[in-house]
Amino acid sequence: MKWAVVGASTIAAEWMIPAIRSQGDEVVAILSSSESRGLDYASQHLIANAYTDLATLLAEQKPDAVYISTTNELHRDQCIQAAQAGVHVLCEKPLALNLDDAVAMVRACEDAGVVMATNHHLRHAITHQALREQIASGAVGTPSAARVFHAVSLPEHLRGWRINKADAGGGVVLDITVHNADTLAFILGEYPLSVMAMTQNTGMGEGIEDGAMSVWRFPSGLLAYTHESFATPFADTGLEVHGDQGSLVAKGVMTQQPTGDVWLRNGEGRMRLPLDHHNLYEEGVSQFRQAIFSGSHPAADGWAGVRSLAVALAVLASARSGKEEVVDYGAAAPG
Ligand code: NDP
Repeated sequence: MKWAVVGASTIAAEWMIPAIRSQGDEVVAILSSSESRGLDYASQHLIANAYTDLATLLAEQKPDAVYISTTNELHRDQCIQAAQAGVHVLCEKPLALNLDDAVAMVRACEDAGVVMATNHHLRHAITHQALREQIASGAVGTPSAARVFHAVSLPEHLRGWRINKADAGGGVVLDITVHNADTLAFILGEYPLSVMAMTQNTGMGEGIEDGAMSVWRFPSGLLAYTHESFATPFADTGLEVHGDQGSLVAKGVMTQQPTGDVWLRNGEGRMRLPLDHHNLYEEGVSQFRQAIFSGSHPAADGWAGVRSLAVALAVLASARSGKEEVVDYGAAAPG
């Protein structure tokens, strides 16, 4: 399969180009807004062609799929343009800056009959898959509470638009809360009805929030607490789900790396689950390809990306209003 990489980004360089190539696919072109950066990137990552115009790239290279990892305000138009050219779309989160734009992206892909997936990589972690299976099999009984620790140190080389450009979708909520929303939905099988949140600026964010904490109310009655930060260099990540028959405790799991451990604690004691880790991004690309070739469903489709964005937008709205906010899923209301 031929891919074009839209956006001369860090995530494409560090994870996604290798993941695409691991499936035997070819990256035929890179799109950058800067000719010189595009050429440098192409040369560094052994990509034969660099473009500054997406229409020209699509017309000349005729890729089967695009992987979009530009800054967030650009995803919408690039996704729609690719879909209208009949090209499958794997798009980074957050899909867009508002719900209408995200829905328009999904609709464009549906209208064009192309596969759309959101790069919510954490669905591909063996740790989260184990959590989901344990909960579905009743290992904790009825879950009543969850806690997500996703507070990290934003690496120096990423301290650009994320901390100083709100109109590019900067801020910790659009960056990390979307992942927590998708991961909890994947594990629990439900999306929150409402959220109550506070955000903070510890000094890293330049006029944008760099930390957030919130409590989410789910249809089953479960409450989840989530913590996101760019500015906690010594915190560990984790995810816990507590029920009346047991607790699942996962440590070191809210990450790009295939790492972490999951323990089940119940009346019989404490057991570490046996896990065979694999590369999250390779698994994501593999599932996206399967959706194209065999009609299977991508793990996180476009609608999943719309819903995770809806939760993040509700968190921002609650932080502004100081009130519990109902999550507006619009056309993506969970069925
Ligand atoms: P980067 O900042 O590395 O890249 C984003 C854009 O910034 C690029 O498209 C590029 O523009 C421009 N850019 C990159 N380097 C430079 C530079 N040295 N000078 C000037 N401009 C530069 O972003 P990330 O890779 O961190 O994130 C990109 C997208 O991927 C975002 O949507 C983010 O949310 C998502 N992401 C997802 C992750 C996941 O695990 N699912 C993890 C990390 C990010 P141009 O293309 O015009 O050259």
